[in-house]
This record gives sequence, C-alpha cells and structure tokens, in this order.
Amino acid sequence: MTLSFEGVTEPLGPAGDDAIRPFAVEALNLRGRAIQMGAALDALLARHDYPPAVARLLAETVVLAVLLGSSLKFDGKFILQTDSDGPVDMLVVDYRTGGAVRAYARFDRDAVAAAAAAGAADPGALLGHGILAMTIDQGANMNRYQGVVALEGNSLEEVAHAYFRQSEQIPTRVRLAVAEMQTRENGRLRSRWRAGGILVQFLPDAPERIRRRDLPGGDAPSGVTVVESDEDDDAWREAQALAATVEDDELTDPAVPVEHLLYRLFNQRGVRVFRAVRVRDECSCSREKVTGVLATFTAEEIADSVEDQVISVTCEFCGRRYRFDPTEFAR
Ligand SMILES: [Zn+2]
Repeated sequence: MTLSFEGVTEPLGPAGDDAIRPFAVEALNLRGRAIQMGAALDALLARHDYPPAVARLLAETVVLAVLLGSSLKFDGKFILQTDSDGPVDMLVVDYRTGGAVRAYARFDRDAVAAAAAAGAADPGALLGHGILAMTIDQGANMNRYQGVVALEGNSLEEVAHAYFRQSEQIPTRVRLAVAEMQTRENGRLRSRWRAGGILVQFLPDAPERIRRRDLPGGDAPSGVTVVESDEDDDAWREAQALAATVEDDELTDPAVPVEHLLYRLFNQRGVRVFRAVRVRDECSCSREKVTGVLATFTAEEIADSVEDQVISVTCEFCGRRYRFDPTEFAR
C-alpha cells in the first residue's frame, strides 16, 4: 500500500476499530475522515435494550456525529439530536473533543415493533416528521452554534446531505453503514454491532472555487462565504462518484481496514492519511453534575423526587444510578 502518512507517531498500519482516520486527497481538493466502530459502539448500544431497528438507527447517528464532531479544532462538544413524531422520537449523540462519545435513543417499544412487523422500520419511518439539529457547544460563556434541518428522506445520509446543502456549508458527502455480526466467544454465539462511515468535503485552495462556509472550527479557512453552484466542479463530481461506490460491507467488515477503502477509492489521485483519533464509549455524567441539577430544584420538586427516603437519578445515556439523601437538599 502506498498511502503516505503525516504527523504519525504510531506505527504505520491500520487505525483499527473505534479510531477516526483523517485523510486528504489534494489532487481533488478533498478532506475527509473515515472510521469503523466495533467494541465502543457495541458497548454503548448493549447498555440499553434497544430493538434491532433502533440500535441500527442510533449506530448510524453515532458514526455521523463522530465523523462531523471530530473536525472541531477547539475543546467542546458536538451534539447531534433528532426531535420527531415517529416511533423513535428522540436520538441524541454527544461527541466531545478528545474522542468521548455517548448516545441515547428514546422510543415507543410497541410502535417500533408494529413498524418492524409492517416492514416499515427504515430510518425515515422510524423517525417520522421532525428535525435534526447539530449543536456545537464550546462551554460556558462561549457562543453556541446550532443548525437545524427537517427530517426528510429515507436515510440519515439524505438528511445530512440536505443539511449541508440548505445551510450553505462546504460541499459534503457521507456514507454510513451498520452491521450486526455473529461472533463466537467462549464457545457461545454472540451478536455484536459494528458500523462505519466515510465523510468527504470539498475544500479547494483557489478562493474562486471555495463556495461554502464550514462548521465553526471545521477544516475550511475562516471567512469563506462565497456561494455558487459547486455541482459542476469536475474534482467534486469525481469525489462524489467515488464516494457513491462505497459498499456497506467496506465500512463494516473488520477484515477491510478503512485505509484499504481509502486506497481503493483514491489511490490513483494520491491520498495522505493523518494520525488517527481514538473514540471511547464514555459518558460525561457525574455525581457533581447531578447534584448541581438537583440544587436548582424547589423544595416541592425535591419532595416530589423522593421515593423510599432517597432521591434516585438514572443517567439516560449510560444508565448509571445516583442516589441522594433528600436532607442534602433541605432548605
Ligand atoms: Zn451517564
């Protein structure tokens, strides 16, 4: 393989599961990132008793959030969230710079089962009508960026493409895939979730070819806001055609590292890969944060939260339970 590596302090080789591999194809003015997720994704999903259709949808959302969130150059949080009227009425994925990811799906179990039985468990049908929001949170006292797009289309890819088109962001293409794989562990057959994705963005150097704004903190130079049609740019057309050839199993097969996919797609143009960033299944909840929330409750709300002499709070992302003595919050 003749990928050239830059900024690499790790042994040259595949990034492996749960690591984002950034890349650039200078001849096509492309920047991108690719990932295959394995154990981190499976652990994150296994903590909840999600029906398979919900697990798939959340897994795709996790990959999309990781691909987008990992472009941020500052410390902060990238939040991808849906709010809709379908059987899955909310999905939330947080990606924190440094690689920690957490995710949660809220759904109506009976409605999901009915949709699956009726053969209508594609993402569009599960989500229904509503919105997808992308939020960039740089912490207290910093501006929050939020972009919103209507949930229209049958796939998260379509929704993401609509988002980038409508918000006049830099031209972006994304491919996402999820697979449930049977593995034999200690003599027992187990089912494990895997997922993968690739994101490509068109970032020409020539100012007259730069059309769109980037997400705050993204890869584009700042102040780039010229908007024209990019559909007729040959390099971007070629990039989109190549991205469209990516098969689902190329994104999820553990025997096909993302570097092999990058090589297949861009070998003729020359592709450079950069140091991989590991992704961890890690929640940001803490006893301190829950205490902070409870401290804002009125005496009446505290009284309402008490059951069997304790206040018990469960983190909906990671399922961790925090128990408090109500007298801690007595006024
Ligand atoms: Zn948590």
